[in-house]
Amino acid sequence: MSAPLIDKYRKMATFDWRKLKAAVEGEEHVRLKAEVVAKMKSEPIFHRDYRVLSREEHREVVHQRWKKIVEWGLFKDPYSDLENFHALTETLEAYDQGTSARLFLHGNVFGAAVKSMGTERHKELVEKIENNEVCISIRDSAHSHSATHVVVYAQLHVDGKNEGLHGFVIQVRCPRSFQTLPGITIGDMGSKPGCWQGVENGWMEFKNHRAPLSALLNKGCDITPDGKYVTSFKSASEKQSVSLGTLSVGRLGIIAKGMMACTFASTIAIRYSVARRQFGPEKGVENEVPVLEYPLQQYRLFPYLSAAICIRIFQKTFVERFTEYMMRVMMGEKSEELSEFSKEVHALSSGAKPVATWLGVESLGEARKACGGHGFLHMSRLNTLRDDNDPSQTFEGENFMILQQTSNILLGKVRSLGSIDTPMSTMSFLNKNPSKFSSWSSNPVDDVLSAYRYLAYHLLQMTASDANKLKNSGKNAFEVRNEIQVHRAVNLSIAYTEHTMIDWVQKFLEDVEDSTVKNVLQKVLNLFSLFLLERHLATLYITGYASGGKFGEELREKLRLAVAEIKPESMALVDSIAPDDFILHSALGASDGRAYDHIMEEFRKYTNEQPRWVCDLAQFLQKRSQHAKL
Ligand SMILES: Cc1cc2nc3c(=O)[nH]c(=O)nc-3n(C[C@H](O)[C@H](O)[C@H](O)COP(=O)(O)OP(=O)(O)OC[C@H]3O[C@@H](n4cnc5c(N)ncnc54)[C@H](O)[C@@H]3O)c2cc1C
Repeated sequence: MSAPLIDKYRKMATFDWRKLKAAVEGEEHVRLKAEVVAKMKSEPIFHRDYRVLSREEHREVVHQRWKKIVEWGLFKDPYSDLENFHALTETLEAYDQGTSARLFLHGNVFGAAVKSMGTERHKELVEKIENNEVCISIRDSAHSHSATHVVVYAQLHVDGKNEGLHGFVIQVRCPRSFQTLPGITIGDMGSKPGCWQGVENGWMEFKNHRAPLSALLNKGCDITPDGKYVTSFKSASEKQSVSLGTLSVGRLGIIAKGMMACTFASTIAIRYSVARRQFGPEKGVENEVPVLEYPLQQYRLFPYLSAAICIRIFQKTFVERFTEYMMRVMMGEKSEELSEFSKEVHALSSGAKPVATWLGVESLGEARKACGGHGFLHMSRLNTLRDDNDPSQTFEGENFMILQQTSNILLGKVRSLGSIDTPMSTMSFLNKNPSKFSSWSSNPVDDVLSAYRYLAYHLLQMTASDANKLKNSGKNAFEVRNEIQVHRAVNLSIAYTEHTMIDWVQKFLEDVEDSTVKNVLQKVLNLFSLFLLERHLATLYITGYASGGKFGEELREKLRLAVAEIKPESMALVDSIAPDDFILHSALGASDGRAYDHIMEEFRKYTNEQPRWVCDLAQFLQKRSQHAKL
């Protein structure tokens, strides 16, 4: 039985949340996710409470859950069964990122690296990966207890010549005894916050270790039996189309972590904000209003609700385009167009990963504060989720560092301004010098996109001009690259990425058939786009997009209006994105809206607990009172 108040908010919506969910996620995806959840609910190993586990307990339970999923045969090859793969990924990511890291780093990131960079020589290993007969890790960190094979990216030196970065797949342990092979030492990195406690990040040392030649992932390059390095790539950019693309896989997945963080934050905080009543226009408990009624609370939470939906649509579109790209790489295509595709995928994934993860971590912090003191409790899951999501800002490229990849690629386009044509068309707006602000139209998203085009165009020009000035003043390339970052290249990468995100969501909306769903999604995108643009207000004025207060004042007014328009839709929007209660696992955010009942149910588990140190306290107090009497 839902609480009457949450039902009241649900009834305010102008649309059917199930239809919106199906339009955004796809009916098949929703159905497949429900199947995974049902399986997990039926298996005790997936049941959990709010206890904090020790490192060993945590890792063991992650291992048992991973084993169960493998035994169920739920893990499918992403390139042959994309729908099932996405349903499982999303469910596990929401359930516990530690379990999903174990499964997907193995099957997706490691498997994709070996498949895309390896050849016939690695076929047997690929089969073993697919059958889960070996246990893997990636790059320079190992699964400290369980990895049997690793993919290492290292500089290849042949006959004293450095041939550049190459991928290698190396066996590091015996898969039966789990003893490390000669010349290899592996250790753990110690405790980590949140779900990462359950993941065995480790260190690895190679000393005089001899690996067979087959360790080299040799698509497009090899070493002949007489020790000569050969490559079939005509240019370095052709070679990039293999390595850059595979490196983007992880970042694409991390964009979804940002989406999931916004999903959890808004689901938990908005549902709780209806249950929590505080103050009112008149005295008396019965007159207190749900805190969701406060415009300030709405302003703090609804942008993240809109971000959850918009990032999902953007990420889904990106994954579709990326899959086309990867298929071409795996088919062995080598072309200038594919190499351009690779650069664009790299530029966009390097921008979208920071934008999405910053929003995600920010949303959890805001949600925790918006839930007051109860948000701080473990049973809210908000602090744990913030710990879980925190490293998403760091791994697969620290956010500020990786943004430089985006701006580097954009800066490379400066000379060809006027004729930029990339496979995903994300940079074509740079062909035209955009006009300044004149007035707002009836469609705020069009206006926001115009402002972003101006912003990105001018930031690109300013960054390039600064780089030229620095170069002419005698600075070397390293100094130039570093000195153009603050206020310039970083903002450029963010503006380019946010423009693409908004543009792709806008295009997605054009194809939504149900008018009620389309209408509410438009409100969601209005809010998301105005919310993001407002953060660039100062730079828009500095770059001369507008002068005087009118533009800024109207932008903020439109933002407040966009927030207010979401209020009646908010509870149904939350229902459309919220994971099943079993996956959500939050006493504050359950779908029945009975946050206080669930909180009290948890509190009551701790009645009359008497820890051992209370005897010590009693003795101490007694001693103090005896002293006082003397
Ligand atoms: C939970 C977790 C799991 C991980 N799992 C894996 C894994 O499975 N496999 C793996 O290979 N790695 C893994 N990593 C490592 C991760 O990929 C790296 O931590 C990440 O890429 C950042 O690199 P770094 O730690 O060397 O940061 P650093 O490069 O040391 O960065 C430190 C600071 O310096 C700044 N900085 C660095 N270079 C520049 C520059 N050029 N300009 C301006 N600022 C700069 C950064 O922005 C950052 O603020 C994991 C990390 C975490 C936290």
